[in-house]
Amino acid sequence: MGIRLKRRLIAAAYHCSVITVSYAGAKAGIAFGSELVFQSAIALLIFHALTFKVVPVSRRLQERHIPEAPCFGCGTSIELVGRYKCGCGFIPYKDRHVFSPCPNCGKRFLFMVCPYCETSIPV
Ligand SMILES: [Zn+2]
Ligand SMILES: [Zn+2]
Repeated sequence: MGIRLKRRLIAAAYHCSVITVSYAGAKAGIAFGSELVFQSAIALLIFHALTFKVVPVSRRLQERHIPEAPCFGCGTSIELVGRYKCGCGFIPYKDRHVFSPCPNCGKRFLFMVCPYCETSIPV
């Protein structure tokens, strides 16, 4: 399985679980006649819809679940956490995951290169 597909699955699972929780909460609110529960469930859903792009929960989950990936070219397992150099020339002073944006220019990696056979791997 490619890294991009894995990331999509994790993001989808995260969104689904938030939506399921708020849906269940809204239903429980109706069932128990509690306006507060119903409103907090709807608020959670709206909050999620407004902030999921800026709150990095889904990226953090992806980073935790995908610490390494096999290379398509040679099959070697590559560490995704390291001091990878960005296209802007910035080399971080501490290890970072390839999914996280560059601290200098804010760009994300679209590909990384296998250190053994130089095959590009979409991330
Ligand atoms: Zn390779
Ligand atoms: Zn950069």
